Amino acid sequence: MNEKDNKLYGLLDFNNIRTVQFGLNYNFQTWYGCSVYFNENSTQQLGYTYYNEIYDSNVHDKFIKEIVECDNDENKVSDNSSNPTKKIQQDNIKTSKNSEQKTTLNEKKQHWLDTLYVCDYCFKYTANRNELLHHMSVCYYKDRLPGKIKYLSPEYTIRRIRGFKHTLFCQCLCIFTKLFLDNKSMFFMVDNYEFFVVYETDGNRPLGFFSKDFLSPEKNNLACILIFPPYQRRGLGSLLIEFSYKISDYEGLISGPEKPLSPFGLIAYCKYWSKRICYEFIDNDFQENATTTLEDISRHTRLKTEDITLALEYMGCLRYSDDEQNGKRTYEIVTKNLMSSIKTHNLKHKRVYVLDEYLLLDI
Ligand SMILES: [Zn+2]
Repeated sequence: MNEKDNKLYGLLDFNNIRTVQFGLNYNFQTWYGCSVYFNENSTQQLGYTYYNEIYDSNVHDKFIKEIVECDNDENKVSDNSSNPTKKIQQDNIKTSKNSEQKTTLNEKKQHWLDTLYVCDYCFKYTANRNELLHHMSVCYYKDRLPGKIKYLSPEYTIRRIRGFKHTLFCQCLCIFTKLFLDNKSMFFMVDNYEFFVVYETDGNRPLGFFSKDFLSPEKNNLACILIFPPYQRRGLGSLLIEFSYKISDYEGLISGPEKPLSPFGLIAYCKYWSKRICYEFIDNDFQENATTTLEDISRHTRLKTEDITLALEYMGCLRYSDDEQNGKRTYEIVTKNLMSSIKTHNLKHKRVYVLDEYLLLDI
């Protein structure tokens, strides 16, 4: 699968699943369409169901059998040949290359499925409520949370889950994410990715996550971020973004998120970068220094200069002037605007989401 296929993989320009029943407590609408859940030859059937039918006419028993097998032995789920869900996903990957078929699917702009039932411990899915109920009563991840704890505060825990170790969990998480993010490619080749998943410290349900490509040549600290709809507006996005920078600090890197950002991601990041820059201006003596450069700010904030530029533009604090004689463009940081931004957004009191004392990055 080449880069271009990956980026387009599973994207639809309409919502083909109307709602998601997320665990037993939450039901919400999808934001974007995703063809990956479905059988390649039918918009009416989930991929794994189709696959089960080929092997066994008793779809229900087979589904349950697969879940129990996976639940009993996590290692088995990384074996493609014995895992129908994974096999059908790989078949779908091949199919995604067929642009003619994709057009046909896009033409059927109606809901392919009314409700997708998703386990909110592990993201396995079904079109049948009873199957979800049964699965959730035996879900492997209900009592055994995956990965290693990297942040442990009284309120929230962040766990690092490696794609190559918990392959099916990460793949199911990726497909689920496609229902809520439009422009990011979510890869099925999850081996090179780490997933930092946030839980309530006394809970066992994932609230949101970000992924990180640990082989990325650009050394980005974040590939994709999503807080699941029921848990938004709690500051969890800021918690995860701040945590991603803590990892970069720990690794001694000046880093940032993978580009392009989604429209929501761009706003979230501009807000985060702006606050961080404002706090630095409040704390540091370059407050009154007219010669402050992007590099100065980068040294203090550990943000990339290109990201600082975006944030300063977002706050209206960057003034450019073009020198026509030598064709050079210079910039000036308008400190006055920055100070009024601090006032407008009430940033005098610094809010910290990640407390260093709870970081467990070195284990
Ligand atoms: Zn589950």
